[in-house]
Amino acid sequence: MSTTREELAAILAPVRHVLLDFDGPVCSVFAGFPAADVARRLADLLTGPDGPPPGHELTDPLAMLRHIADARPELVPAADGALVQLEVEAVAHARPTEGAVQFLEACAATDRQVWLVSNNATAALDRYVDTHQLKTLVAGCFGRVPGRPQSMKPSPELLLATLRAAHAEPAEAIFIGDAVRDIEAAHAAGMSAIGYANKPGKAQALTAAGAVSVVTTMRALAQAGPS
Ligand SMILES: [Mg+2]
Repeated sequence: MSTTREELAAILAPVRHVLLDFDGPVCSVFAGFPAADVARRLADLLTGPDGPPPGHELTDPLAMLRHIADARPELVPAADGALVQLEVEAVAHARPTEGAVQFLEACAATDRQVWLVSNNATAALDRYVDTHQLKTLVAGCFGRVPGRPQSMKPSPELLLATLRAAHAEPAEAIFIGDAVRDIEAAHAAGMSAIGYANKPGKAQALTAAGAVSVVTTMRALAQAGPS
């Protein structure tokens, strides 16, 4: 599916609040500290007399956290706390997504507030925003609720919390993300979603999930311009 610049501009026209996924649309969080290494470190940190934590073989640390929450909820505080530190370490080596800053600037120029809404830890989002001097372009950061992996997308919890903070209705907001769970979370929160297909095969999946539009670059969104 390809969306023209005019179609994108029309989709963005009523939007006053852009809810933006972090890992993908803003940066590649684990570009320098690979997710598989983070997952291994997390599993090592949580290995105790009872052995490794549930899901220790997973290469996605967020999936491991979810798994731990399901199988060993008593381990969640330690697991989440350890993962926060690893994510903060990871964002120091994150690779910015091309066109992301231009998109943030385009939103600022058209009086749209941008909120980062992510399954990653708020501390990691804050650190990235700080390091890359994006504070004036980002209204707020909503990472997963500490100790509550259930708050992660596809749950709409973080999106609804953002809407409350923004005093916004779903109709004046849109969510932009690169995963099917982002589209699902948006719909569950009553808002539309734009898919960012940064890898082959993602466009089809995001379209099938009901994204109103799918872009393959953040630059395309930045250039959709004011309307
Ligand atoms: Mg993402």
